[in-house]
Amino acid sequence: MGADKFARQMQYLVDRGYRGVSLATAMKHDASRSRIVALTFDDGTRDFWDHARPCLQEFGFRGTLFVVTGRVGTVSSWDQDVGESPRPLMNWDRLVRLQRNGFEIASHTHTHRVLPSLSDHEAAHELVESRRVLAARIGTAPDLLAYPRGARTERDRELAREAGYRAACTVILRWRDVTGWPRANGVQRTQDRALLPELPRMPVKGNESMGRFRARLALARRAGLRPGLGLPD
Ligand SMILES: [Zn+2]
Repeated sequence: MGADKFARQMQYLVDRGYRGVSLATAMKHDASRSRIVALTFDDGTRDFWDHARPCLQEFGFRGTLFVVTGRVGTVSSWDQDVGESPRPLMNWDRLVRLQRNGFEIASHTHTHRVLPSLSDHEAAHELVESRRVLAARIGTAPDLLAYPRGARTERDRELAREAGYRAACTVILRWRDVTGWPRANGVQRTQDRALLPELPRMPVKGNESMGRFRARLALARRAGLRPGLGLPD
């Protein structure tokens, strides 16, 4: 995404009285009463550091970064699978500094492999190892996970819960995916306590217009995409 376009999107939020925060912060608020937007950034790319971070800090915004623990400081080689060129990734030094500045550092698995394609053992390793490495490097084991490409099965949700995560972000790919979400609480609760709760996210692409950005924000609000009063225990 161009830095100018990102800055315009953040300015739009400021102009309407919104504050951009991490998911950890958003979950402590009653979002129906506070004008907050949880901002999340996947992969931990260097362009976040170079372009998004200065802009967010200028506005006093924060956010959640989902990082690929086994690839920190290298390049996003997984992008080649979908025909994109690899992007440089931030190193641990930068991630630690971001955390000290109030950004939340959470897990995007250990190597960004798409979980449903893996064996039970491999999928568990992606989840457990990422949480362990973050605890060692950042000092806090993360509560949150973002599934690579949003892909997960019930098996993956079980494994993630067993690994110690408290909720996972998914990606809304189609408009109709949002219509069924509960209006009062962005956390999709489940009757099955073995499954990790889900947090639906509205993706914002680098090439979309401001009109599209406004429409996404409005739709997210109508669909009740907002964290509730806390995660289930
Ligand atoms: Zn990713």
